[in-house]
Amino acid sequence: MTQTDDLKAIAAALREHDRFLVVTHENPDGDALGSLLGLTLALRSLGKDAVMYLPAGAPLPREYGSMPLADLVREPPADAGERVLVAVDCASEQRIGDPEAVGRATLTLDIDHHHDNTRFGDVNLVVPDASSTGEVLRDVLAELGVALTPELAEPLYIALVTDTGRFQYSNTTPKALRLAAELVDAGADIHAVFQQVYESVEFAKLKLLARVLERAEVLEGGRIVVSHLLRTDFADVGASEPYSEGLIDYLRGVEGAELAVFIREQMGAGAHGHKGSLRSSIDELDVSAIARKFGGGGHRQAAGFSSDDTLAEIVETVRLGFLEQRAAART
Ligand code: 5GP
Ligand code: MN
Repeated sequence: MTQTDDLKAIAAALREHDRFLVVTHENPDGDALGSLLGLTLALRSLGKDAVMYLPAGAPLPREYGSMPLADLVREPPADAGERVLVAVDCASEQRIGDPEAVGRATLTLDIDHHHDNTRFGDVNLVVPDASSTGEVLRDVLAELGVALTPELAEPLYIALVTDTGRFQYSNTTPKALRLAAELVDAGADIHAVFQQVYESVEFAKLKLLARVLERAEVLEGGRIVVSHLLRTDFADVGASEPYSEGLIDYLRGVEGAELAVFIREQMGAGAHGHKGSLRSSIDELDVSAIARKFGGGGHRQAAGFSSDDTLAEIVETVRLGFLEQRAAART
């Protein structure tokens, strides 16, 4: 099957069925929430019954608080077993955060852009070259003949602007930029999104950033920049877990840094001890391969994992993974 076949197969499955449960990954980011909302609104515009479900857990990041997500449910609906499950921006079914969700569904559709997607759906549309799942969805909507309204364009724009790092990361292709223009034409309000997503930083997040910067250290002569947050840090400054999203970007921005590593203690019973985030500044370094050493994954430039190892053990595994790849690149 080519990607065009996959696109047609996904569109056909969406057209054919009437009741959907739309899900995305835990600790959702802008692409996850933008894609969740964008697809749900599109399905509803086709007269379908679509429910957005994000398994109970941490509250949503505040930067997405102004998105119209009021009818997002945090428990699976009673009729979940009769609905078609559509997972957006999830590289594997584990990422959904409700491992049983796939088993319950009558049919599972997988729409994503992670290169390491396990193709866990009955129908899969995985476009690794796409900047964001929002970009993949744009093509799905075109195939379905759904016109872009301002209500649809804005969440897709949020997906695009956040996953491209405001059109700065290497996934910012001409297609991504053209899509941005198309979404603005369709009514996405760039400045409103900027203010909501990037300029509504809670004071507690600023204080959390201060701790991340204070604890930052360099390894390998500055090629690795690493920092961490303890559970007590969150309590001290009055921040909840999602506040730490994006703080790693400050570590990546350091001169000479090839790898940024951010590790935080996780809250909540049953959660792994630590959550790790990795960012690469150079093409030669694939951080998803390092994340996979812990059972995680992601993109070449941005990846993550959970682990019960100690902070020191995690840093050492990451450092060795970095050296392995950098040595291999030299030979
Ligand atoms: P972040 O560091 O912002 O949490 O995630 C960066 C990227 O890595 C995202 O594309 C995300 O999907 C992926 N990622 C983060 N955590 C995990 C994880 O535990 N498992 C997998 N497979 N991917 C992850
Ligand atoms: Mn994404």
